[in-house]
Amino acid sequence: MSQSNKPSPNKSTISNLFNAETWIFDLDNTLYSVKTNLFSQIDWKMTQFVSEHLKLELEEARLLQKQYFKQFGTTMRGMMKLHNVNPKVFLNYVHDIDLTPILRQPQLNTALESLPGRKVIFTNASKPHARRIICRLGIEAHFQAIFDIVDSEYLPKPAPQTYKKLCHDLIIDPTRAVMVDDMVGNLEPAYNMGMKTVLIDTGIEWSPNNNSATHINYSVKNLARWLSKLTPENIKKRT
Ligand SMILES: [Mg+2]
Repeated sequence: MSQSNKPSPNKSTISNLFNAETWIFDLDNTLYSVKTNLFSQIDWKMTQFVSEHLKLELEEARLLQKQYFKQFGTTMRGMMKLHNVNPKVFLNYVHDIDLTPILRQPQLNTALESLPGRKVIFTNASKPHARRIICRLGIEAHFQAIFDIVDSEYLPKPAPQTYKKLCHDLIIDPTRAVMVDDMVGNLEPAYNMGMKTVLIDTGIEWSPNNNSATHINYSVKNLARWLSKLTPENIKKRT
């Protein structure tokens, strides 16, 4: 009897988010707003990298970049697999962007300070990029670890084995963890491992408005505001 089409039951043991041991945050478009348009800068740098590396016109490079993203999960993985690109060279190149749209976020800083539990960042980007961003946001003091694409051995989210490695390396009990991400698909493996899941609803193309997906426990438009309103009492009502 196949159960494969049914969502697996969430194994979370958290009845109140204030009792979570670990909060796992995505970086891009989760800890800072999609309105900063930072990703479009990174996206453009990727096109330039593909163009320069493969000696292609920008338009052609753009098509290939998007094809690799679909086929391999990230453009970088396609460039590594098919063109032997050094991932560190790629990452340094594409993250060399203008960070002035990223401003300090005092409300997020206060909310993270008041939130019990260990906080870590889980990103398909690189550690130096993540560090630069959280320093500009003024929230760097709150994170115990950054698990990046190098730690993932270049296998990006949502590959389930990457989530297993994250939990193994950082000693995270998934049934006592909460994961926050702006991509619906990235929350599915987390939910299946027993995490509570929080979707940052940006309402944009790569994060379709699929908030009714069964693996989403919470859908949130503004992370800082949502976190700052959490109290042991109102969390209990929501779970
Ligand atoms: Mg993201």
